[in-house]
Amino acid sequence: MLFMLFMVKSPSPLSFSEKANMKPEIQSYLDSIRESLDRIGRPVQIMEVCGTHTVALFRTGVKSMLPAGVTLISGPGCPVCVTSQGYLDAACELARLDNVTICTYGDMVRVPGSKASLQQMRARGATIHVIYSTRDVLAYAKEHPEKTAVFLAVGFETTTPATAAMLLEAKATGVTNVLILPGHKLVMPAMDVLLSAGDAKIDGFLCPGHVSIILGANAYLPIVEQYHKPCVIAGFEPAGMLDAIARICQQLADDDARVDNAYSLAVRPEGNGPAMAMIDRVFTPADDTWRAMGTLPLSGLSLREEFAEFDAYRHFQIQPGPDVCPPGCRCGDVIQGKASPAECPLFAAACTPIEPVGPCMVSSEGACAAWFKYSPR
Ligand code: SF4
Repeated sequence: MLFMLFMVKSPSPLSFSEKANMKPEIQSYLDSIRESLDRIGRPVQIMEVCGTHTVALFRTGVKSMLPAGVTLISGPGCPVCVTSQGYLDAACELARLDNVTICTYGDMVRVPGSKASLQQMRARGATIHVIYSTRDVLAYAKEHPEKTAVFLAVGFETTTPATAAMLLEAKATGVTNVLILPGHKLVMPAMDVLLSAGDAKIDGFLCPGHVSIILGANAYLPIVEQYHKPCVIAGFEPAGMLDAIARICQQLADDDARVDNAYSLAVRPEGNGPAMAMIDRVFTPADDTWRAMGTLPLSGLSLREEFAEFDAYRHFQIQPGPDVCPPGCRCGDVIQGKASPAECPLFAAACTPIEPVGPCMVSSEGACAAWFKYSPR
């Protein structure tokens, strides 16, 4: 019966003009996906772990190109989306203090906290400095010795080395007016939690190219070994993403599960040793709270004792607030692949990019923002 349903849902073939305009490699990946789906005999769900893929899949048209038997679901890889409300409230609390400047990447500024966003705090007189790299934080701190620059250190393994480098430089050069609010997270524990909970149906993972450059392809081996789920790494170009999806479908058709690397130009099996060493020098794994997912064991990074002087929580003797989601917001389900943005009752109604309710509608990598921008309504 399931197979028959699947047959009914099969995609209509591409038109002659669509085929004529398509690069041969794209066509061959799509053919491969169709051939694998025929062998699998049921629809498949593939989770794109990171927000960069979510947006790239929409923007490049790959999502709309795929046969109906493949559903892509967004995962917990948008740094702003998984940052707990309590973290944001702590940032707003610090923004209130005289002589504190909050330094942050732009996406965090508009995320609603339980009482205010950083944008609203700025309207009330707080100094919020949007930066483009951690070098900007150090430069700001050096230029404003009367201020304490607090950097909102959120993001995954892609951005953590830059935070570590900044703190190493601050320590080496004696810069004492820079702090971080630790909020960096680790990808692998989140994937593990999603699979062990078992309530999101995931057949395989499209793994992020940039995070994998740091972690290395071998980092996914435990997921494959424990859960028998294909993990294929891809960059962010259409052909690379389609290649990876085709490889995932092929593994599923063969009842195989391996780590495969469709971004081997940049990703090595062992990752980037110096970057990992720099993270390890400054940070140590710690339990961390994820938005609407609770506290996940060893899923975040806290500062090692040697660098504790840079910890804004310690320096100002504050704690993150509780992680309370706005009423009706389903960001927690969206980032865990349990619901699509369109299944949130607030999507495109009470929650829009102009007046966002949750972070998934704010972040440039948020699934709700991508759906709003690219999905037909
Ligand atoms: Fe949250 Fe808005 Fe997304 Fe709903 S549409 S899950 S309220 S961000």
